[in-house]
Amino acid sequence: MVTSNNDCFRNWINRLWVGIGSKMISNLYFVESKEKPEEYKIGVVWVIGDETKEVISFLCPCKCGDIINLNLLPGASERWKYRGNKTITPSIKRKTGCMSNFTITGGMIKFHNDVENR
Ligand SMILES: [Zn+2]
Repeated sequence: MVTSNNDCFRNWINRLWVGIGSKMISNLYFVESKEKPEEYKIGVVWVIGDETKEVISFLCPCKCGDIINLNLLPGASERWKYRGNKTITPSIKRKTGCMSNFTITGGMIKFHNDVENR
C-alpha cells in the first residue's frame, strides 16, 4: 500500500517536470510602446498604444514565426484584457496557421494543445 502511494507520487512529480519542460515559457518580457516594433523577438510581448492601449502584439510562442495581434479596444467582436500584471485574458485560440491555444498568466505561457511538439 505504502509502496504504491510512493510510485503514484513519483509519477506525479515526473509528469509535473515534463509539463514544465515542454509546455511553459518562463518570464515573458512585456514592453509598452506607442508603435509596433520594427523587429519582433520571441518572448517579448508588445503592448501598443498611446494613453489607451490598443493592441497586444507578439511572435507566436510556438515559434511558427507568425505575429499575433490581440485587440484591446471595445467594439470589436473579439477583445482581450490586459491589466499590467503580465496577464492577458481570456485565453488565445488561433484560428489560422499553427492553431495554437494558450494562456498568458503572470508572464508564463501555458499551452492547451500540443502544437509546440510539431
Ligand atoms: Zn504558432
